[in-house]
Amino acid sequence: MNECVFCKINRGDVSSNKVYEDDNFFAFLDINPVNLGHVLVVPKNHYENIYSAPDEILCGLGPIVKKIAIVVKKGVNADGINIIMNNDSAAGQIVHHAHFHIIPRFADDGFRHWIGKPYPNKEESAKIAEKIKDSF
Ligand code: AMP
Ligand code: ZN
Repeated sequence: MNECVFCKINRGDVSSNKVYEDDNFFAFLDINPVNLGHVLVVPKNHYENIYSAPDEILCGLGPIVKKIAIVVKKGVNADGINIIMNNDSAAGQIVHHAHFHIIPRFADDGFRHWIGKPYPNKEESAKIAEKIKDSF
């Protein structure tokens, strides 16, 4: 038996507030919203993360994520939207069934982005860019 909570929601074994459904994807309210109207967009098939989700699924997700972002923004009268996908525990993934967070944001919600810091020098940034390019 598949114990994944999002698979259970898809099967109807766990209740949810669904806001969208088609043949391949569904979307529902996050049970613990960052702001009210926080929605999760999920492929119906179980893929752990972005690495294992097939390209066709990811291509299909793009327009759905866009559509849900627009209706969430309108539905809760948000000032902006964050779209986030956590991959792996180190990146904060708790439910290991690939999903996108659509998070409505309000000008006065008080949340800050994580803090960035510049590279120490140009050699360091060039080295990191090379490491990434060498990994294709
Ligand atoms: P992540 O850290 O990206 O894996 O996020 C998982 C999200 O799933 C969290 O924001 C949880 O609040 C949410 N979540 C977990 N269980 C449920 C559930 N039964 N119904 C709705 N959202 C859930
Ligand atoms: Zn699953």
